Amino acid sequence: MKIKNLKLKINFPLVIVGSQWGDEGKGKIVDLLAKEADSVVRYNGGNNAGHTVVFQGEKFKLSLIPSGVLQRKKLFLAQGVVIDPKVLLEEIEFFEKRRIKVDLTIDPRVNIVMPYHKELDRATEVWKGKKATGSLHLGIGYCYEDKNNRSGVRFEDLIDPLSLKEKLAMFFPLKKLQIEKVFGQKTELTVEEIYKDYIVYGKKLKKYLGDVSLIIQNTIQAKKKKVLFEGAHGTFLDGVFGTHPYTTAVYTISGGVFPYVGIAPQKIYSMGIVKAYTTRVGNGPFPTELFDKIGEEIRSVGGEYGTVSKRPRRCGWLDLPMLRSAIRLSGFDYVAITKLDVLSTLPKIKVCTHYVFYGKKTKEIPALMSEFANCKPIYKDFKGWKKDISKVRSFNALPKEAKSYILYIQKQLHVPIKIISVGTERNSNIFL
Ligand code: GDP
Ligand code: MG
Repeated sequence: MKIKNLKLKINFPLVIVGSQWGDEGKGKIVDLLAKEADSVVRYNGGNNAGHTVVFQGEKFKLSLIPSGVLQRKKLFLAQGVVIDPKVLLEEIEFFEKRRIKVDLTIDPRVNIVMPYHKELDRATEVWKGKKATGSLHLGIGYCYEDKNNRSGVRFEDLIDPLSLKEKLAMFFPLKKLQIEKVFGQKTELTVEEIYKDYIVYGKKLKKYLGDVSLIIQNTIQAKKKKVLFEGAHGTFLDGVFGTHPYTTAVYTISGGVFPYVGIAPQKIYSMGIVKAYTTRVGNGPFPTELFDKIGEEIRSVGGEYGTVSKRPRRCGWLDLPMLRSAIRLSGFDYVAITKLDVLSTLPKIKVCTHYVFYGKKTKEIPALMSEFANCKPIYKDFKGWKKDISKVRSFNALPKEAKSYILYIQKQLHVPIKIISVGTERNSNIFL
């Protein structure tokens, strides 16, 4: 199907997946594609994910509200998401103050981040010391732990005072013991204080309740309705297939969309978002990381600082073994390359074609993390284009060096590149 206004041939339902360590520019691409969608669904992660959408010069930082908000689409938070209600309410207020209506539906099964999750998160990172995951202490991982252990507070409970009281009375004493007796830390939290705040959040959010699983399955079945699923984080932050244990607690690969939304397995098209180089926030192995001036230049030109955390992102060359694994795990139908403009100042650009692990050539990320930590990247060199490409809007108008970089990537990945993003604004794209 040709996307009317965008001159882009892409099929729906479509899931957008980060193919590296997050921050690939998914927010920008979701905002762009949302123009043609009816509904935009966030289905994993919490407010530790940060998406930036730039529209008419203004920067919008989103952590829970789906990036379709500026296109004024129907927005959904599916059960796979965890919600910090205070953060969500602040985001809603931010948009409503700008007269942008937030047409949101929240699934009753969504788990709620509680204050004790944040305290446990901080206590665990202190305890792990040097081996800390690099968590932002937002309590997301602990919220998922309770979800999986069936001891979470769900949205259904948040909006029902009796149920909220019951759950807190049941779970909080154990959490307090854990914080104080296991980790030896002090907590000022009390059931009464938490209840007092959370009952207000529940009251304000109640109007957004809806069965997202049912609504989205029905929307997909109504053939003309287009659903866009917005994946948070990136493939290698996947809680299982990512670079364990320096990951999130959720599935970030495309298949997660089925249980996390509550729809049956069916053809959902997928688009992998690939940054033209690689970045990573927090700890863990990163074979193509740059520790020199080039790394610093990419960071400063690309503005590689966390949306939520403001932490400087680690920067390195594009890593094809990672992308091959991402494609295998998510079955991308399309690829979008973002931030190609960021490489415009460099005289030479490198791409990691494969790894060598103790003399053995490896074309994908190894399953054993002990092997991954010792993989040596092998590079192919490309000549830089040294020209501003941010105003270019057609593939043919790109400098020949930029074309060969893109064509090489496409050939290696065997997936059609549909979008090349060359700037932060919604219209800074080349469609193929
Ligand atoms: P996400 O987590 O994948 O949604 O990505 P983030 O929004 O956290 O980080 C991507 C950053 O790059 C944001 O600040 C975007 O505004 C910016 N960005 C996205 N695409 C481009 C692009 O093509 N060129 C440039 N220069 N910046 C971009
Ligand atoms: Mg981000």
